[in-house]
Amino acid sequence: MGYKNIEFPQNSLFLVTGGAGFIGSNLCEAILDLGYKVRCLDDLSTGKQENVNIFMENPKYEFIKGDIKDLQTCIDACKGVDFVLNQAAWGSVPRSIEMPLFYCANNINGTLNMLEASRQNNVKKFVYASSSSVYGDEPNLPKVEGREGRVLSPYAVSKRADEEWARQYTKHYGLDTYGLRYFNVFGRRQDPNGAYAAVIPKFIKLLLDGEIPVINGDGKQSRDFTYIDNVIEANLKACLAGSDAAGEVYNIAYGGQEYLIDIYYELVEVLDIKDKNGNRLEPIFGSERAGDIKHSNADISKAQERLGYNPKWNFEQGMEAAIEWYKENL
Ligand code: NAD
Repeated sequence: MGYKNIEFPQNSLFLVTGGAGFIGSNLCEAILDLGYKVRCLDDLSTGKQENVNIFMENPKYEFIKGDIKDLQTCIDACKGVDFVLNQAAWGSVPRSIEMPLFYCANNINGTLNMLEASRQNNVKKFVYASSSSVYGDEPNLPKVEGREGRVLSPYAVSKRADEEWARQYTKHYGLDTYGLRYFNVFGRRQDPNGAYAAVIPKFIKLLLDGEIPVINGDGKQSRDFTYIDNVIEANLKACLAGSDAAGEVYNIAYGGQEYLIDIYYELVEVLDIKDKNGNRLEPIFGSERAGDIKHSNADISKAQERLGYNPKWNFEQGMEAAIEWYKENL
C-alpha cells in the first residue's frame, strides 16, 4: 500500500509539468524523497514560486520556467527524461466557461506538445492528469471507464481531447501513455485563495479567518474526494505499468462519496467554529454552478487491477492530515 516502497532504476529522471502547482509539487516532493531526480517545468501561471523554492537546495531538483504551449520548450525539457508526469493545465469548470479559447490552447495544445516532445525523446512512460469531469452528463454511479456521457464544460472537453490525443500517440507511435482521471483531489499545498479555489481548502481558510462559506446549490452534491497521497501512488505505479496497460484511462479516487454539506458541518465541528450566539455556524447557500455535475463516485477496479493501485488514505484520514497542515501553514 502507498508509494513509499516503490522503486525505479537508479538515476531515473522524472519530468513533472505543472510541478509548481498543488499536485505537481507533491509529486516532485515524493520523487525526491524516494531519491530520484526531478525536473519541474512550469510557467507559474497558477503555480507558485514558493512550491519551487522549497526544493531548490536539493541537487536532484531542477526548475525550468517555461510554457508547454511552446513545443521547443517541451522538447528541451524532455531531454534525457525517463518518465513524464504531465500535470500542467488550468483547472476550474467555471473559469473554462469564461475562457474557452485559452483552455483549448493551454490544456489541449499544451498536452499535445508534451506528447510530441516525449515521443521525440523516447520517453519511457507518459502519465498525464485527466479528470472525472470527462464523465459529463452520464447519470449512473459509480463512474466506470468506457461509460462516459456528453461533457459539460470547455475544461472537460480539454481533458477528453487529451485522452484521445494520448491514445493516438500510443497507437501510432508506440508511446506508453496512461491517463489518470483524478476525482477531486485535496491535501497539503492546495491553494485556498481566489475565486476558483477548490472547495475543501477554501472552506477551511474561510472558517479559520472567521468568514462564512457559501455553498453552491443545496450542498447535497457529492464527490469522491481523494487525498493527495493516493494520487502520488497512482502516478508512480503508472510509471511501472506494462505496455499492455498503455493507451488507457484510469479512475483515480478512493471510491467513496462525500456530501458537501456534511463536509461543511464536519469542518465547523473539528475547527470548533460558532456563530455570535454560540451556536454551530450555518453556511450561506448560493446558486448552483453551471457545468457542474451533481454526484460523482468512482469505480477504481480498473486502476487496481491494471496499475496495482491500492489507495491507502480514506477521506477521513486525508481530511485529518489536510486540516492539520492548513492549521500550521495558513
Ligand atoms: P494547479 O493549478 O495547482 O497546478 C497546475 C500547474 O500547471 C500550475 O503550477 C501552473 O502554473 C502550471 N501550468 C498551467 N499551464 C501551464 C503551461 N501552459 N505551461 C507550464 N505550466 C503550466 O492545479 P492542480 O490541482 O495541481 O492540477 C494538476 C492537474 O490535475 C491539472 O491537469 C488538473 O486539470 C488536473 N486535475 C486536478 C484535480 C484536482 O482536484 N485538483 C482534479 C482533476 C484533474
